Amino acid sequence: MKIGQYLKEGNFSISFEFFPPKTPEGEEDLFQTIKSLRAINPSFVSVTYGAGGSTRDRTRRVVERIHKETDLTVMAHLTCIAHSREELLQIIGEYKEIGIENLLALRGDRPANMPDFRPPEDGCTHADQLVRLIMENYGDWFSIGVASYPEGHPESPNMEWEIKYFKKKVEAGADFSITQMFFDNSYYYEFVDLCQKAYIDIPIIPGIMPITNFRQVQKFASMCGATIPQRLIERLEPYADSPEETLKIGVEFAIEQCLDLLENNVPGLHFYTLNKSKATLMVYEGIKEALKV
Ligand code: FAD
Repeated sequence: MKIGQYLKEGNFSISFEFFPPKTPEGEEDLFQTIKSLRAINPSFVSVTYGAGGSTRDRTRRVVERIHKETDLTVMAHLTCIAHSREELLQIIGEYKEIGIENLLALRGDRPANMPDFRPPEDGCTHADQLVRLIMENYGDWFSIGVASYPEGHPESPNMEWEIKYFKKKVEAGADFSITQMFFDNSYYYEFVDLCQKAYIDIPIIPGIMPITNFRQVQKFASMCGATIPQRLIERLEPYADSPEETLKIGVEFAIEQCLDLLENNVPGLHFYTLNKSKATLMVYEGIKEALKV
């Protein structure tokens, strides 16, 4: 199934994001998680890719296993920053060979521990170039998603810049987008509004992170520039050392957030699962009635 086409036909998507585990035990745990989440009947799942290319084999193996061992549609993330064009084309070609039809085309971040890092001369320095590379070589085969940032990418000086370069990815051939996590829906609504004003008309799927560990989410959020609303911090902070209370508050908040997004006719919901099923299943329980409407 091509995700872009599925969304274009007006279908609502529920999707889950996983990362490729480092150990065989981690991989087996992930496949247990996938089994639990299969009950929700997701439209697709996706597997992340290490920006330095470090997870190349692991991402590919997990993508291939999901594709061959389950009936789920799987999208492979691919970051371009550390690869030559030849390497990128090889990776993309391998995905085509095994029957993967969906790619999330990303730039990735410079490796933090390599100050002298330079992208390969003939590589792609931004995600729009990766989208173009896929379109030029395999345009008929892949549906291409790209990342979007309702609060702006940390490198973007302002939202005008953000929209300008997001539009370049769409013009290059992206047919849907998934957002960075956010906890205040007004950023998403304002972003979608700016996109509409800029004649960007691809579906923009909100990325939802149910909070299960307050300090970890604070760290992620500050790295990617996502604002955690003060009222949520005040609810979570006193229970930062209690996993049970954090889960309860995090799930309650994610349910509120998703119900509001559903009322506002979002094209889908993409859950950052961190390879665990519990919180996502609890959020699903809280929104499933609203999903039927
Ligand atoms: P780009 O679209 O290239 O944008 C990066 C910055 O450059 C922005 O500020 C943009 O405005 C600017 N820009 C874009 N094009 C140009 C241009 N032509 N000239 C000048 N400036 C430009 N990271 C991983 O390592 N692995 C993953 O699997 C992964 N999955 C992700 C999934 C989602 C849904 C999201 C939202 C992010 C994901 N990321 C992942 C993080 C992502 O790689 C980083 O946020 C990265 O810093 C930017 O990637 P991008 O594709 O958005 O880059």
